[in-house]
Amino acid sequence: MTPPVRRLSDPVRYVKGVGPAREVLLGRLGIASVNDLLFFFPRRYEDRRELTPLSSLEGGSMSSVVARVVAIEGRRSLKKGLSITTVLLSDGKGMGKAVWFNRQGIESQFLPGVRAALYGRVDIRNGRVQLTNPEFEILTDETEDEKAFSIVPVYPGTAGLPNRAFRRIMRTCLEEYLPLLSDFLPSGIRKRLALAPLAPSVGEMHFPESRERWRAARKRLAFDEFFLLQTGLALRKARASGGEAPAPPLFPGALVEAYRSAHLPFTLTEDQKRVAEEIFGDMARSVPMNRLLQGDVGSGKTVVALLALLAALDGGRQGALLAPTEVLASQHYQRLAPVFHALGIPCALLTGSLSQREKREIHEGLESGALRIAIGTHALLSENVAFASLGLAIVDEQHRFGVLQKQTFRSKGESPHVLVLTATPIPRTLTLTVYGDLSVSVLRESPPGRKKITTRLISPRKLPELITFLEGRMRGGERVFWICPLIEESETLDLAAATVRAEELKARFSPLGTGLLHGRLSGEEKQQVMEDFQSGKISLLVSTTVVEVGVDIPGATVMVVEDPIRFGLSQLHQLRGRVGRNDLEGYCFLLGTPTSPESRERLEVFCSTENGFTIAEADLKLRGPGEVCGVRQSGITDFRVADLIKDRALLECARKEAFSLVEGDPELAGEPLLKERLFFLLGRSLNLVETA
Ligand code: ADP
Ligand code: MG
Repeated sequence: MTPPVRRLSDPVRYVKGVGPAREVLLGRLGIASVNDLLFFFPRRYEDRRELTPLSSLEGGSMSSVVARVVAIEGRRSLKKGLSITTVLLSDGKGMGKAVWFNRQGIESQFLPGVRAALYGRVDIRNGRVQLTNPEFEILTDETEDEKAFSIVPVYPGTAGLPNRAFRRIMRTCLEEYLPLLSDFLPSGIRKRLALAPLAPSVGEMHFPESRERWRAARKRLAFDEFFLLQTGLALRKARASGGEAPAPPLFPGALVEAYRSAHLPFTLTEDQKRVAEEIFGDMARSVPMNRLLQGDVGSGKTVVALLALLAALDGGRQGALLAPTEVLASQHYQRLAPVFHALGIPCALLTGSLSQREKREIHEGLESGALRIAIGTHALLSENVAFASLGLAIVDEQHRFGVLQKQTFRSKGESPHVLVLTATPIPRTLTLTVYGDLSVSVLRESPPGRKKITTRLISPRKLPELITFLEGRMRGGERVFWICPLIEESETLDLAAATVRAEELKARFSPLGTGLLHGRLSGEEKQQVMEDFQSGKISLLVSTTVVEVGVDIPGATVMVVEDPIRFGLSQLHQLRGRVGRNDLEGYCFLLGTPTSPESRERLEVFCSTENGFTIAEADLKLRGPGEVCGVRQSGITDFRVADLIKDRALLECARKEAFSLVEGDPELAGEPLLKERLFFLLGRSLNLVETA
């Protein structure tokens, strides 16, 4: 069955010892090829190198022992289906037993006088020590005791494939295939950073000789993961700004000027000015912008987006702003349309709840170019939507959209400039990986005059006090959000809970209006509820998380979140960001009881700070990259060895090396091995290869 030429892409059954049954078991672990197997690293290690004399063994421990067989009790059947083999051991100073249940073939190996190394769990039975089901190796008299034990890998298990068997397969695989693994890392980089060579590092990861060597191997492999990704991102970035038909450069002109001088309701912060300049700078180049604008909740990203849209119009192109929810899209429209109208710019709001006729009119306007600006929801992505000349596509709260949706949006123009806005700050390590091929602008300071928000965790027992407090606020004309979680799996149940809660609160606060907002309402109904809340006709709004993103109601001062442990920190931060948007003091109450020390820690972090960057870092630490900032679907952060928190410095370093390498050699012509490895591993997921 062995093929004439071995390749790392060989199916794993080519490895000796892997038959059809094991091929299936390995498949369950995601191992299909030899390469998959080589890079399937242990979950942990057992350091078996320290020998314990039989007389010092402690019950419950996992221990290594070298001893001689004194006698063997053979195999006895205890009852049907259960047999036991007992071997009596001595190491010269003490005595002990080793027992195996339902194991054949022990007797033939453990002959009296034979020396053996054993590793296993120690139990004390009737005052005597025994090793239960230990792993073992028969030693010759020449074997030094210390050499009999090693640091042993423990692989993530799967039923039917014990670790012993897994280790044997891995040893064979390493012997047969490791020499094929050529070191793809440019030697200059390897030397500069004093990184260990590749093949030996892979070997060390599986069967480490010492902690020091393992550490060096791990560093090398973690670096590789970062470096390959960063090289891929650098290539993608270089290609995005190369090949395509260049867009004509766009410069801010009369419209931007007019807005700034006559319609801007406040003074821009220095941060906003700087970021607007960064964006204008990109748009003035003949390659499409691909920029991520990060800023904390309430940092004023919208006005920056508006300036960019006006610059696109100044350049004679159209602009579009995509928002994840109908509530947010219409809020943007209400804010921005008056500005556009005052400047004589025809614009439209396109959402799913318009009539067919209304939609068609907007489609025609965009296609003919009569409409210059479109603000909308997913309806903007419909295949019926085409632009005469889309120059700038902006995605608000971009984490709510998938990669494909963003691509669709982009394809509505010919290489339009693209600006994506985040809902909350993203930890730098994630920015460098998940968004690693984008240019990044950050708004750090918030507009002046923002008041601190008091955040408290409140036990449901204190509900009556909370109600009294809310009543006082509402009588003074302030508005209250009350959020009930709505998680997809239990949508119906949750919605019922929110409805019941709304009824209760309505009864409590009867003279003060109470409203209910959730995703199942029609666009018009949502619109009405939001208007009533804005105007004060409703003082308390019970809502599911449809208000999570972007909603701006300056009169709202209190945010109550029920069952806060069901939310991520960044989501809670978004919710809290809905209040404290004017000069009144804001409050955020988390109504619930933490169910674990971890959930308590998370909520305490949240109560202790309002800094979105701090919160995002904490969220990353506590929940891992997959759950933070909606990057779950990306797969890009699925590192096997590297750790986005611990290996931060290594990531920065890998990025620097990768980007400077690609800058000097944009086709990787001088690094064929690197190129091959990169395309083999990441070509598809990074879209570097043309997929048919
Ligand atoms: P976000 O970054 O969360 O999208 P917004 O763009 O909605 O924030 O801005 C939050 C609020 O701050 C809005 O009411 C906006 O009008 C106001 N704002 C933005 N920039 C400034 C500024 N420079 N000075 C005063 N208020 C500002
Ligand atoms: Mg916003």
